[in-house]
Amino acid sequence: MLSCRKVSELLSDALDRRPRPAERLTLRLHLLFCKACSRVENQLKFLGTALSRSAERPTDRRK
Ligand SMILES: [Zn+2]
Repeated sequence: MLSCRKVSELLSDALDRRPRPAERLTLRLHLLFCKACSRVENQLKFLGTALSRSAERPTDRRK
């Protein structure tokens, strides 16, 4: 079973690269039972959407 720490690592990795099917499965299982990690997943998804949206406009460089 994955630890919450490992799950959040995998979730943030998933923003950069596609997780392997085995990883996805264990992630899904953990998220089914762990409310804290599914909340993290939602936040990262939101972040990922915002990031890919800003990547569409490379001229808009604000940091
Ligand atoms: Zn968890």
